[in-house]
Amino acid sequence: MAVPPPARVVAEPPARADVVVVGGGIVGAASAFWLARAGRRPLIVERRPALAEATTAASAHCVRAQFDEPENVAMMRESLAIFADFPATLGLAPEEADIGLRQQGYLFASTDPRRGAAFAARVARQQALGLADVELLDGDETRRRYPWLAPEIAVATFRGGDGWLDGCRAARLFARASGAPVLLGTSALAIERAGPRVTGVRTDRGRIATETVVLATGPFAAELAGEPLPISPLRRHRVIVGPVGGIPQGAPLVIDADTGAHWRPHQGGALLAWGRPEAPSTAVFPVPADPAFPALVLRHPNGVGRLSPFWRTLAPALPPASIDLAAGQYTMTPDHKPLIGPASETAGLWLHTGYSGHGIMGSPSGARLLADLLTGRIAAGDNPFAPGRFAAGVAAGAEGMVL
Ligand SMILES: Cc1cc2nc3c(=O)[nH]c(=O)nc-3n(C[C@H](O)[C@H](O)[C@H](O)COP(=O)(O)OP(=O)(O)OC[C@H]3O[C@@H](n4cnc5c(N)ncnc54)[C@H](O)[C@@H]3O)c2cc1C
Repeated sequence: MAVPPPARVVAEPPARADVVVVGGGIVGAASAFWLARAGRRPLIVERRPALAEATTAASAHCVRAQFDEPENVAMMRESLAIFADFPATLGLAPEEADIGLRQQGYLFASTDPRRGAAFAARVARQQALGLADVELLDGDETRRRYPWLAPEIAVATFRGGDGWLDGCRAARLFARASGAPVLLGTSALAIERAGPRVTGVRTDRGRIATETVVLATGPFAAELAGEPLPISPLRRHRVIVGPVGGIPQGAPLVIDADTGAHWRPHQGGALLAWGRPEAPSTAVFPVPADPAFPALVLRHPNGVGRLSPFWRTLAPALPPASIDLAAGQYTMTPDHKPLIGPASETAGLWLHTGYSGHGIMGSPSGARLLADLLTGRIAAGDNPFAPGRFAAGVAAGAEGMVL
């Protein structure tokens, strides 16, 4: 893939901006794109020397519509449609806007036959929500499609339109297509207020006057919000191996629904991840990675080798130099859904964070929603992701599956 054209980087902070988007990961970049589309003139402020270097860079970059709740299904379907038609949506030439989208499917599989009824119910629920292409597979059908899978698999769900892409490229392209000036290497230190209203952003390179700020700082959002936010950072790892022979490149994303370990093809090798039990922490960057993680996901009896046994022979032979480890932080909310909308205590401050492990797949749609709310095209009452929903007693952990 060719290197995407650069965003419009500016050297100095402007004295004033119509909207300041703080954070240049995929969430901030997509926000800038849809804000510009809605007629606003955003400025992106990013403290790293380049866009998409923090959580977005550590991601597994997978995208799926297989969710259980209507607002999640709607969000992910809209995002997938945006990704599938990325050049046209962004108004860029196809060769400029290649994000490496591979729709090879998501396979959630279990070796426990007692889970068959729950899998069937989930598929029925998803089909009722409009995902007519989600399939319920028994073990034989699963292995007929993917003969290298374990004989113990008893039941699976599959959707061929799910897959993965390069979220860093998508972020850079959103920023580029927004036409927004991008101020790199600049930290926002405080949101300035006069009474209950935003008046500007104080940065380490000077003040930017504005009446509107979008906080898209991922796990760091609580630092600048000026009010408590229902988010907590949670460390997660991903491993990239290869390219090496022996990894079926036509595979879907294979998720062990009993243990959570998962893997997918990646450029002649594979990308692997596993959400291990870990206590939520405070936001940090860089996120220190546990050097024991690659051996865990590759060689533990409950790791990727349980459903895909070829890993058991391949893993011990992998040269250490072929293994790349990264860690980042999910920005968790109590119901695993994002915070999109106005902050409760400061007029002009908008929150866009809390994707809880789904920010690559959710943010294209979430950013469109943010722009529509901010410009009054959508009424606050029609927003299922309002940051204030927890005050109204929303149940925690409703969606349940964080992959
Ligand atoms: C291991 C792992 C696997 C994942 N897998 C998936 C997946 O398969 N699919 C999926 O959809 N999601 C996945 N996610 C989640 C996804 O990566 C995130 O939801 C998404 O990247 C969040 O994007 P963001 O822009 O909010 O955060 P970030 O990418 O962290 O961007 C925030 C930006 O704000 C900047 N910033 C912070 N504070 C300031 C400040 N004060 N001033 C200026 N700039 C500031 C940071 O430097 C950063 O660039 C995964 C995450 C991890 C860690």
